[in-house]
Amino acid sequence: MRLRALFEGRKQASALAVGTVLAMAGATVLLGGHPAGAAPGCQVDYTITNQWDTGFGANVTITNLGDPITGGWTLTWDFPATQQVQQGWNGDFAQQGSHVTVKNPSWSGSLGTGATATPGFNGTYSGTNPKPTSFKLNGVTCNGTVPPPTSTTTTTTTTTTTTTTTTTTGPGGGSRVDNPYAGAGVYVNPDWSANATAEPGGAAVANQPTGVWMDRIAAIAGTTTGRGLRAHLDGALVQANGKPLVVQLVIYDLPGRDCAALASNGELGPTDLPRYKSEFIDPIAAILADPKYASLRIVNTVEVDSLPNLVTNVTPSATATPQCDTMKANGNYLTGIGYALAKLGAVPNTYNYLDIGHHGWLGWDNNFQPAVQMMVTAATSSGSTLANVQGFISNTANYGALHEPYFTINDTVNGTSVRQSKWVDWNRYVDEQSYAQAFRTAAIQAGFASNIGMLIDTSRDGWGGSARPTGAGPMTSVDTYVNGGRIDRRFHLGNWCNQSGAGLGERPAAAPAPGIAAYVWMKPPGESDGSSTAIPNDEGKGFDRMCDPTYGGNAQNGHSMSGALSNAPLGGHWFSAQFQELLRNAYPPVH
Ligand code: BGC
Repeated sequence: MRLRALFEGRKQASALAVGTVLAMAGATVLLGGHPAGAAPGCQVDYTITNQWDTGFGANVTITNLGDPITGGWTLTWDFPATQQVQQGWNGDFAQQGSHVTVKNPSWSGSLGTGATATPGFNGTYSGTNPKPTSFKLNGVTCNGTVPPPTSTTTTTTTTTTTTTTTTTTGPGGGSRVDNPYAGAGVYVNPDWSANATAEPGGAAVANQPTGVWMDRIAAIAGTTTGRGLRAHLDGALVQANGKPLVVQLVIYDLPGRDCAALASNGELGPTDLPRYKSEFIDPIAAILADPKYASLRIVNTVEVDSLPNLVTNVTPSATATPQCDTMKANGNYLTGIGYALAKLGAVPNTYNYLDIGHHGWLGWDNNFQPAVQMMVTAATSSGSTLANVQGFISNTANYGALHEPYFTINDTVNGTSVRQSKWVDWNRYVDEQSYAQAFRTAAIQAGFASNIGMLIDTSRDGWGGSARPTGAGPMTSVDTYVNGGRIDRRFHLGNWCNQSGAGLGERPAAAPAPGIAAYVWMKPPGESDGSSTAIPNDEGKGFDRMCDPTYGGNAQNGHSMSGALSNAPLGGHWFSAQFQELLRNAYPPVH
């Protein structure tokens, strides 16, 4: 599951000249400062990530310590020596003499209080490469403190305190915070943790929070390999110890599940909607509604893969499957998801996130807006409303790089856009964070609440280890440039099963970037994506050749090798060799 690069978008996209694309992007850049009367304040962390003869790379992490910035931001500094920015990312870079100006990227003009943005660049230097010593954000020097607010004598009410956390009343009373992860711990699943601890070196990550998958009806009560939902929630209350705690559930048992693949086919047939409602969603919702659990912040990832499949893997697409056509025709994905959102959303301490695949699935122009519309349709099915959606999750159980540090979508080589490289293939995004942020903006435009947040599953997208590039690829052609510099080492973006060479990605973190509620490990690393040969089972799971390392591929992965590891057990089962490889190739590395 969780794949499906789809390319019908690329032909139309190719009609746009690169210059047009850039101009369009430029037009959406919002300039301006913080709101009138807002207290500014910032801290900048300038890190040289690597350095060679005359070149270097740097990341510049800006933390907004003042009031929320909504109208765009501009960071400036002066280089103390002869440094020169060559190529930037996560921001629009310009340099005049030694003076550098970085403006927010077009997709992200806001920076909440405490939020960070990390533009970065590759540059040149000669002789020495001293760090700049002073930075300004929207004209205010970043000295790590919040200057006292400017007040006027005519104002007697206090207008200077702003908090980013607002609460909204849920349909069933009670309240939600904007970002459930902010200021909260996250539940560590003891079942996963025990598996991780048992692996050599695994103890170093065994205390990380991972998703708890409700992947069949039996998972609610508990199975031989995992405790049931109440046991998890009871354990969460203990871990919470009176403080805010997020519990991450994956709601995953739709009728006709995983319609474009076989590895995660489920127990419910295409028409089993009544069972989905009464034997799966209703009991889960009833448990979550137990007042005993009201203090927990329950994050639900609602039905991985299904809505993206309805966007791309249906007739007339070249990647259509009869199963996805069936699910589109009978409407049970939409009805089921709408039902789940409405039921789960009626519990005031739940937070629902819909799955948006990943950039290598829906990042093409032809897929992107239809996907946004699909989210609207699902969220308004079965009596649900958009208010039952607190955000979206990308990269669930996939391997897409969070950031590609050595190339951006705006780069060109000898006048040719990286969008024309074989790897990018006219996609609009090169990595998950840029995709997730753009999706958020589009979803808000389509009517979702302005305080929605994005989750990105970084459990297996680290791509570290010895094969990880340390700089941009040679500028001989767009292909040498992209292939030499990309950290995602898959044969093809459409590969999704037990990828060889992958590593653990960013550790789970709250509010790591504008619009991103959290980096999460929703797929528990070390759990297989699917068996590499057929294995009889009673979970409804099939054998998908995308999990077979000898398979030469199909339309979904550009007829490439699958890149899957051998000797893999059934999807969801513990795969020790994979866990150890993920640990070895972790990036950031695990010490
Ligand atoms: C499997 C699920 C499992 C999940 C998490 C999926 O591929 O189909 O059964 O719970 O991965 O590992």
